[in-house]
Amino acid sequence: MPLRFTPLMKKRLTRRARFMLQTALRLFPELHGKTLTVGYTRAHLGSALVPRHAEAELTIRLKVRKLSYNTIGHELTHLVQGLSHCQYDREIFTGRIPSGEKPCDIWTLARSELFCDDAPTYLKLPPAVREHWLHYAKAVRALCIAAIEKRATHRLYIAWLEEQIHQLARRSLEQNDHEMQLQLLF
Ligand SMILES: [Zn+2]
Repeated sequence: MPLRFTPLMKKRLTRRARFMLQTALRLFPELHGKTLTVGYTRAHLGSALVPRHAEAELTIRLKVRKLSYNTIGHELTHLVQGLSHCQYDREIFTGRIPSGEKPCDIWTLARSELFCDDAPTYLKLPPAVREHWLHYAKAVRALCIAAIEKRATHRLYIAWLEEQIHQLARRSLEQNDHEMQLQLLF
């Protein structure tokens, strides 16, 4: 898909960031054929202009330093989120992504393991999960996929998901305690 970089981004863009962007975009078939403008931000990890109609210009901004796939995925998901609410494009989207930051985090992680390289920003995570994110990432992603399925019948799917993640951390702690006790015994 055609990429356009703003002058400021052209100055900052690294080979690594360009590669990451192109790799991430392959996982967003809904955006193929559209032109994406990529700008630079220093203030946030990233931001997106959520499109309000199908022909809207698509723009995201990224911080290049410590750029993660999770951030790129989150901002691209905002674009899909906006487009999925546009009447015209609804057919090519597998479903509407609910508005808001937490759904954006959930749908980003669910889309691909690629986006598990860093913890999501808005989803409520116990400190242990945030601190040891890579240890929990796959399990949290599986829970995100389950939460999206759950949403069909369960209005409070985000609360359900956050509770599941909470339990995940607790079970892991108990297991560690158990292993520690065994080590003390033998
Ligand atoms: Zn966001």
